[in-house]
Amino acid sequence: MSWEENVRKVVPYTPGEQPKVTDIVKLNTNENPYPPSPNVMEALRDLSEGRMRLYPDPKAEELVHAIAEAYGLKDEEVFAGVGSDDVLAMCFLTFFNSKKPILFPDITYSFYDVWADLFRIPYETQPLDENFHIVPADYLKENGGIIFPNPNAPTGVVLPLDTVRQIAAANPDSVVIVDEAYVDFGAESALPLIHEYDNVIIVQTFSKSRSMAGLRIGYAMSNAKMIKYLNDVKYSFNSYTMNYPSIKLGAAEVRDTEHFRAVCDKIIATRTSSAKRFRERGFQFEESCSNFLFVRHEKVSAKEIFDYLRTQNIFVRWFNKPRISNYLRVTIGTDEEMDKLFAALDRFLDR
Ligand SMILES: *Cc1c(COP(=O)(O)O)cnc(C)c1O
Repeated sequence: MSWEENVRKVVPYTPGEQPKVTDIVKLNTNENPYPPSPNVMEALRDLSEGRMRLYPDPKAEELVHAIAEAYGLKDEEVFAGVGSDDVLAMCFLTFFNSKKPILFPDITYSFYDVWADLFRIPYETQPLDENFHIVPADYLKENGGIIFPNPNAPTGVVLPLDTVRQIAAANPDSVVIVDEAYVDFGAESALPLIHEYDNVIIVQTFSKSRSMAGLRIGYAMSNAKMIKYLNDVKYSFNSYTMNYPSIKLGAAEVRDTEHFRAVCDKIIATRTSSAKRFRERGFQFEESCSNFLFVRHEKVSAKEIFDYLRTQNIFVRWFNKPRISNYLRVTIGTDEEMDKLFAALDRFLDR
């Protein structure tokens, strides 16, 4: 017997690479290529040195209130956390506490099975169809909870609101978490469902559409009862998850709706033009409602393209996993970055 037998062992999530070298085209972790609202830098300059000595507001009230206002909710209907990874982990810990398995797609955000393993939550993955669409009937069986991203990652495929509603309605005895990390890039949010059903929770993030991955801000929106349960778990774990700068800067960002919409529209436009350019070069993919395209070339393997792009200092994401190992997930960058990507692809494919 050694202490090692009692270690809580887990195979950790592998985040996308954050290369140290500069002068690269970084299309591998779905960050936003544009800066956040100018109000954020202004709020940064206004931070108070004296305030850093003190603990932050455990309720993160200013941020919670700004998010609630932006979405027409009450403050009691919003929960803020350290990126949506923290919010999602809290949701798993709080709401997935049944002996029945939770359900999520086989191809999806690769943190879900890690949290399930970490928290000892039984789970059953549900295979996407051959075109990478969720099969709604798979989520009508008995379960201990349901989670899926919408749009899904890394596929970018969206599930219509009516189908999300169907899944929520069919599962009154379990919590349904909709991970809307990419919803702002053209999908319909399931937010209205939080007032139609008492078992729905919507999770969003500042990391993609709001250009603030480095600040680590995510949030959940649901009925006051579910948010209270989430807060009970959070205060039993760490009262001060949100630091003072994140509260201030996050609130400044969320108040600037105009900048946020303009940035999302720009990325959607670049996604449309990039989709056309990929198609012209023999790539195939499903329509994406996110800030990335999940593409496969008709002749050349994804790994070969991935390796070549790296030699050109262009980083995209390749998952060495069943069903998707011949796909590349390419984040939508600026038009200039996409020009560099397609120039490199032309050099490689015409060789
Ligand atoms: C990026 C991402 C997240 C986590 O983002 P945070 O930076 O932790 O807010 C959660 N879910 C999906 C599907 C994502 O792609």
